[in-house]
Order: sequence, then C-alpha cells, then structure tokens
Amino acid sequence: MTTPTETLTYCTVHPDRETTLRCNKCGRLMCAECAVLTPVGYRCRQCIRQQDDRFFSASQNDYAVIAGVSGGLTAISALIVTWVNIPLLFLLFIGVPVGGAIGEMALRLTGRRRGRYSGQIAAGAAVVGGLIGAVAFVWLRTGEFAPELALRVAFSDLTLIVFVAVTAVVVYSRFQMRI
Ligand SMILES: [Zn+2]
Ligand SMILES: [Zn+2]
Repeated sequence: MTTPTETLTYCTVHPDRETTLRCNKCGRLMCAECAVLTPVGYRCRQCIRQQDDRFFSASQNDYAVIAGVSGGLTAISALIVTWVNIPLLFLLFIGVPVGGAIGEMALRLTGRRRGRYSGQIAAGAAVVGGLIGAVAFVWLRTGEFAPELALRVAFSDLTLIVFVAVTAVVVYSRFQMRI
C-alpha cells in the first residue's frame, strides 16, 4: 500500500503549498508563485537575486567612465549633427549606430561590468552631452559662450532633440542587453 502523505513535498517559502517543482540550481522546493522561468529552466528567487548581484558588478568608477564616455561622445556627435544639419529622417540611421557604438565603447572601457543603473546613467549623460553639444555649436558659430542661447537653439531645433533622444534610448537599451 502506498502512503501518499509521506511523499508530499511543500514550497520552502509557503509551507502550506504542495509542490514537486525544484529550483534547478539549488534544488529548493518552490511553488508556482515562487518559481521564476529563466532561459535555463525554473529557478528560485534567491538564486535569481544572487545571479543579479554577480551580474551587477559595476563600481562607482565604472559609472563615472560610462557617464564620461556617453556624455562626451554624444556631445561631439550632437555638435557634428547640428553643424552639418542632417535631415530628420537620416538622424535615425545615424542615431542608432552612434548610440550602439557609445554603449559598446563604454562597456569595453569598464570591462563589461554593469550596475543596476548603468543604462539610466548612460542615457542621462547622453542628454547632458547633447546640451553640451548645443552650447559648443553656438560657441563655434557665434564665437560667444552663451549657454542660454544654446538651450533655446537646442529646444527649437528638432534635429538635436531627435538625435539625442534616439542616441539616449539606444545607449540605454545596450546596457539592458546582457551581452
Ligand atoms: Zn535556487
Ligand atoms: Zn512558494
């Protein structure tokens, strides 16, 4: 005779929930709510968190490098784009590879380490870089250092806004990719 009660197993977190599902990393029993489906199978939340902690290994220094690379390169690109006055449609074709290249360079310079906020910092720095590019543009064109005028130019110039927006989004997405 079988005695089913002896073979019943329960979720580690929810002792009232019967389950046979185990985390494929640590082997802990988990219910449907506790299980997280990953590309390599079901894992428990603790294992997922540990994995994230290992993945997010960026230091303060890495954040500074990411901000510097993203801000600096976006500033230079924004200056060129505004200077040449590239048609709006082409900005998409330029903004995507520029954003990709900026993200890739920042990743290489930081040993591909990432932090939870790498994407946000890179995108924020790109926006600041775009404004710096506008200031540089006005400065080179008029010989006048006029940040206020530059801001007005930046916000009335769709070219710059579109270019910086595309670049920032692409840089952000690059950091969300786990490769
Ligand atoms: Zn686990
Ligand atoms: Zn559970």
